[in-house]
Amino acid sequence: MFGPPGSGKGTQAARLGKAHTLAHISTGDMLRGAMAAESDLGKRVKGVVERGDLVPDDLMLGLVRERLSEPDATGGFLLDGFPRTVPQAEGLLDVMRDLDRNLDVVVVLDVADDILVGRALKRGRSDDNEETIRHRLSVYRRQTEPVLSFLEGKVPIASVDGVGEIDEIGERIGRVLDATD
Ligand code: AMP
Repeated sequence: MFGPPGSGKGTQAARLGKAHTLAHISTGDMLRGAMAAESDLGKRVKGVVERGDLVPDDLMLGLVRERLSEPDATGGFLLDGFPRTVPQAEGLLDVMRDLDRNLDVVVVLDVADDILVGRALKRGRSDDNEETIRHRLSVYRRQTEPVLSFLEGKVPIASVDGVGEIDEIGERIGRVLDATD
């Protein structure tokens, strides 16, 4: 599940994971969990996450590699918030090869910037003040969007209009997934 901050990818990924019994792997949730538990990882990433910058690629790749090897991910998984950089995408393809798995589809949620800022502010997360949101958006455009060009031709990519009711967007995603089966 791919999309800018505030695009609703977390909401849609959670719904989809439940409906299809896929492991919902949200790297943002994993990092927030570590921060709440004040683990070594949490302490290490706190500043970066609160600024709205990206946690280093090698650290993220290590986390995801481990998570993908857990039993609940063997039947299928849904990545939410990962990969966020081209090196992460390259690393993910390597991990997929090592695990003899493949990525079925990248779903991109399409939402205009102004709507994104409004939505993210409503969430009221600690990394969600207007300045950080704008920063995270620029990080997305600069570092994350290029992942799509990198994945083009390697993994099917489907764009979905991310504006509307949660159920409506869920149905659009459902149609895209049916078409890629
Ligand atoms: P999210 O909940 O996906 O919006 O992620 C919240 C924050 O966690 C991001 O703004 C980043 O600071 C960090 N983060 C989450 N996923 C990644 C990732 N794949 N690579 C680097 N940083 C990440």
